[in-house]
Amino acid sequence: MDPVLAADLAALPDVLDTTRRYAADVLAGLGDRPVSPAVTADPRALPVVGGGFAGALAEFGERWADGFAASAGPRYLGFVTGGATPAAVAGDWLAGAFDQNPSSRSGAEAATELERETVRWLAELFGVDGHTGAFVSGATMSNFVGLALAREWLGEQRGVSVAEQGVAALGEVTVLSGSPHSSVYKALSMLGLGRGCVRLVPTLAEREAVDVGALEGVLGSVSGPVVVVANAGTVNTVDFDDLRALVRLRERYPFWLHVDAAFGGFAALSGEHAHLVDGLAEADSVCVDLHKWLNVPYDSAVQFTRRRDLQVRVFQNAAAYLGLPTDDPDFVHLTPQNSRRLRALAAWFALAAYGREGHREVVERCVAQARRLGALLDGTAGVRLLAPVRLNVVCFAVDGAEVGEVMERVNGSGEAFLTPTVYAGQPAMRAAFSNWRTTDEDTDRVYAAIVKALPN
Ligand SMILES: *Cc1c(COP(=O)(O)O)cnc(C)c1O
Repeated sequence: MDPVLAADLAALPDVLDTTRRYAADVLAGLGDRPVSPAVTADPRALPVVGGGFAGALAEFGERWADGFAASAGPRYLGFVTGGATPAAVAGDWLAGAFDQNPSSRSGAEAATELERETVRWLAELFGVDGHTGAFVSGATMSNFVGLALAREWLGEQRGVSVAEQGVAALGEVTVLSGSPHSSVYKALSMLGLGRGCVRLVPTLAEREAVDVGALEGVLGSVSGPVVVVANAGTVNTVDFDDLRALVRLRERYPFWLHVDAAFGGFAALSGEHAHLVDGLAEADSVCVDLHKWLNVPYDSAVQFTRRRDLQVRVFQNAAAYLGLPTDDPDFVHLTPQNSRRLRALAAWFALAAYGREGHREVVERCVAQARRLGALLDGTAGVRLLAPVRLNVVCFAVDGAEVGEVMERVNGSGEAFLTPTVYAGQPAMRAAFSNWRTTDEDTDRVYAAIVKALPN
């Protein structure tokens, strides 16, 4: 064994203990760390002889750690960013320590069972009990899997198998959606269907939710089965398509209903908001991100479907040493990856530790914080909310200054991190609340940083 490696093996308990103390310090200092520090990279050559764990940690601390954003902290409100709860971090560490590969039962029976249990718990949490599913790396991959199933279903309707014959056998494909997330286009590109197959359907006035009447008009005018991508939580204004109405439409027009519920799916946890995802259980495929509002570390999402048979057709990886897919297929036959980490473990720990109640509280507190910031901004001269706060995002514009300038001042303050967008043709800013740590005090600090950044 390489002597440096052998020394680390001999000192393994110390390696882990030092890491534990280091990580505890990082997390204890999260509130004080600049939310998005400026970084200057200083590339170095690959070491020939390494410095061992101690050398690596010292170098990391010296060269990289200070540049890492406090994205796990309470005032990082850019994109839709979750943190990581204590049990989720622990589960993630243990996934690394056990280093399981739940692709196949063979040699990893318990790990695959744990993933199955976690998927069942999540299906219950989001009210899609009739669905099966698997862990994937993020909502983009979850949308990718759902749309791969849609593609195979379209083939089934036309008497071909895309999995066997390729996309050329399919002919023209139409994907209808009101306000699709950018990852839907990316997934369609990866699937060989092309970004160009999306046909945008008008949305309701001053909304991002699809106009169901307009959708019906389009469905009546296209020939043959299509794919409808419904949105349960758009990134700008957290708008929801009327899923019940879409399910009723599907009774009259044949289409595959994929729902992108990346973070909006968490509305199911809140009594006040669960109606927004009424009908989700009837979808053919559903995407939910976990590294956002479940507050597990990156990278983690789940995909659900009611058509596991199609999933096996697309993703099966039959090989002599892996066996053929059975009625209860191994994950190797269900996901784009073959070998993969036990990413279910972090989610399992989070759910076992905090249960439905704990996660409901996080969701409701995030919604309360978004409302708090929304109300404060609404009463502030020079600021305009561009949409009501429907769930956990505040989308607003500022008068008399470029959004970019204001944003730079907010983010440069180290107090908060917001991201820009364009909504209804207007440059705007978004503050998205999905971190379990955020309190009233944090929201007040974010508000103060915004006010300070406004033109005077
Ligand atoms: C975040 C998000 C995605 C993409 O998620 P990744 O985890 O970044 O792959 C897709 N759809 C919606 C609605 C999202 O909010």
